[in-house]
Amino acid sequence: MALRGDDDIEEILWTEEQISRRVAAMASQISDDLNGASSPPVFVGVATGAFMFLADLVKRIEVPVVVDFVRVESYGSGTESNGAPTISWDVKNDVKGKHVVLVEDIVDTGNTLSCLIAHLQSKGARSVSVCTLLDKPARRKVNFELVGEGKYYCGFECPDYFVVGYGLDYAELYRNLPYVGVLKPEIYK
Ligand code: 5GP
Ligand code: MG
Ligand code: MG
Repeated sequence: MALRGDDDIEEILWTEEQISRRVAAMASQISDDLNGASSPPVFVGVATGAFMFLADLVKRIEVPVVVDFVRVESYGSGTESNGAPTISWDVKNDVKGKHVVLVEDIVDTGNTLSCLIAHLQSKGARSVSVCTLLDKPARRKVNFELVGEGKYYCGFECPDYFVVGYGLDYAELYRNLPYVGVLKPEIYK
């Protein structure tokens, strides 16, 4: 079964079942925290990597939500950030006065999130929370601050490997793997 790219994976870190259980728990926590909000919160997925996580997450959110996307360019096809993210596709919805939940696949240096949080704050978001499937704290370069009563939700702490699957790519491939795994180094060296 090599068609999907499974043969290029050295080790599976989180299986489809483990991810599903964790996403359900995160959605339950976020639903509790958003309960009673005066207007529907805006869930903003960071394209493309967050598409699968965003879809699974919002299915389990128990309040009405608005779903939107932003696109940020910072990675190209390599495995290292160039450190200067730019927003190439902005949200479609007006976020002024809204609770925004930024949904990310992985937080690495923190550059992407600090850029996006500043952007949403400048548009008048009432709060900005961050919900990321993975966090690689070992590689953080920029510490970002949430806006208003925004909270930080993280699925799993990720060791310092280049990971793919469940939305995360290498050179636009492997996003459709239903698990998160470590790519064999010989694939990108
Ligand atoms: P940051 O701006 O925090 O350095 O990078 C965030 C983005 O870098 C993530 O949204 C993701 O697209 C990419 N990234 C960081 N680490 C990894 C990784 O291990 N695997 C993959 N596929 N992308 C990563
Ligand atoms: Mg991302
Ligand atoms: Mg990528």
